[in-house]
Amino acid sequence: MSFQYAPTLRLYQNLYDCLSDPGELDVIDAIRAAEIHTACSERCQPRRRAQQTIASARSTEVERRPKADQLAE
Ligand SMILES: [Zn+2]
Repeated sequence: MSFQYAPTLRLYQNLYDCLSDPGELDVIDAIRAAEIHTACSERCQPRRRAQQTIASARSTEVERRPKADQLAE
């Protein structure tokens, strides 16, 4: 295998570029991208990825809540 650039550095750079899709983001990168691109249009690729990741993270969180409510009763 040939040497590869540090993927985190590459991903971090892509987060700043509105025109390049950064790929799937983890929640930390999604929050960072959302902050960077908060004023961007819906055509901004990192912003769209960030919203997808944050939305799916939230829905996972909601799925966990009923269990916590059951424990409380
Ligand atoms: Zn942007």
